[in-house]
Amino acid sequence: MINVTIWNEYIHEQNDEIVKEIYPKGIHNCIKEYLENDENFSFKTATLEQEEHGLTEKVLEETDVLLWWGHMAHNKVEDNIVDRVQMRVLEGMGLLVLHSGHHSKIFKKMMGTNANIKWAERGEKERVWICNPGHPISKGLGEYFEIEMTEMYGEPFQVPDPDETVFISWFEGGEVFRSGLCYKRGNGKIFYFRPGHEAYPVYHNEYVQKAISNAIYWLNKGENAGTWDDSFNPKDTMERKEPIEPIEVKGYQVDHTYQK
Ligand code: ZN
Repeated sequence: MINVTIWNEYIHEQNDEIVKEIYPKGIHNCIKEYLENDENFSFKTATLEQEEHGLTEKVLEETDVLLWWGHMAHNKVEDNIVDRVQMRVLEGMGLLVLHSGHHSKIFKKMMGTNANIKWAERGEKERVWICNPGHPISKGLGEYFEIEMTEMYGEPFQVPDPDETVFISWFEGGEVFRSGLCYKRGNGKIFYFRPGHEAYPVYHNEYVQKAISNAIYWLNKGENAGTWDDSFNPKDTMERKEPIEPIEVKGYQVDHTYQK
């Protein structure tokens, strides 16, 4: 059983009539309803408006793979919750960052860059090319798949080079974009998956749904998942008080007292 938590800021679907028609129960529930066909998954959902954004210590403790959708309220996510999610990724929780989640605090923190892109909202066709048909996330997707109407994302996508690029998208207007990127951080895996936009029914597309399902299997904690030893906390444990080999201590020692 893979314990999946789907996090959504859940604002467009409540404030915008067009978006509400496409995702009446929210993007999180649309994704959940498809994935529920697989009995290997169990689900929680969490949203921005909930206490601790629905991501309490307990919820994250019980999460193997966290999905993240956000767009207009990235800055409303509390830093202490972002730190908590980061720690769980380092410990081995999988993180699936969807579409405009590229600008979320958690994704930028895990990447170490601003994750900027080029974009245009004009209902273009997207053709998603599979770069490695043998990768588990590509299973059942063929040579490429198409999404009839999407928001365009174009290069340069300002992220570090991934461990592997699984998808590259071509758009009707000519741009291309690295749409499926694999990273490892600590003991956890991260997958960035571009397709998805609140104003078009992208999460109703069967190939997009299949790719999300495949990604959850790939992101599920690996053999080395466990406790990430944050050696900075408590900082007392950082100093090696006794040398491994006996040596004569030389030179001057400054005051090392400081706060993280
Ligand atoms: Zn969008």
